[in-house]
Amino acid sequence: MKDNYYRQLLENNKEWVKKKIDDDPHYFEELSKGQTPPVLWIGCADSRVPANQITGTLPGEIFVHRNIANMVVHTDMNMLSVLDYAVNTLKVHHIIVCGHYGCGGVEAAMHNKSLGLINKWIRNIKEVYQENITELKKLDSDEKRFDRLVELNVIAQVYDLAKTSIVQQSWIDETGLEIHGWVYGLNDGIIKDLKVTMHSTSHLDDIFTLNLKKTQE
Ligand code: ZN
Repeated sequence: MKDNYYRQLLENNKEWVKKKIDDDPHYFEELSKGQTPPVLWIGCADSRVPANQITGTLPGEIFVHRNIANMVVHTDMNMLSVLDYAVNTLKVHHIIVCGHYGCGGVEAAMHNKSLGLINKWIRNIKEVYQENITELKKLDSDEKRFDRLVELNVIAQVYDLAKTSIVQQSWIDETGLEIHGWVYGLNDGIIKDLKVTMHSTSHLDDIFTLNLKKTQE
């Protein structure tokens, strides 16, 4: 059964196509003309946090980038290419960093076990832990520390997006781009808005503010 599981996915696909065409015979014809999603989603690769399903959105509505623990790493060409394309070509209005409670990547970062290659990725989360160690140590259980680190990690990634030249150029050009930080609850399906939205007038430490000029029209 498990060996053939992938075949089931192809069957599901056929059913889905049929349903879509039954509802609207021009569905794929229309969708294939192009995309203008208003949102870029940076989420965790976790199979339980699918961007479209949990936000009730359809194909064409969210441009998605997912990796372990929804990270914004400045040397990650994959993330940077997605960000550049989303902001400068698709001209999204919102970037949402969505973490989730119970994130395996964040949990791994809280422990000392060596996990091979993934150590390098997780080290970025360890930095967030270390930067917030005073707040985290005040919490009275590992569970609360875990939940809070998930939130702090999202906040750090929102801030890391704001440090990129791609976002800063967009802000100088007054496009109205906003960055939001959310956390999804695996237990109840609810998304918590951390209310850390950043926009063109948000505070960014001087050292990270790049000397950019408005793009000539
Ligand atoms: Zn995760």
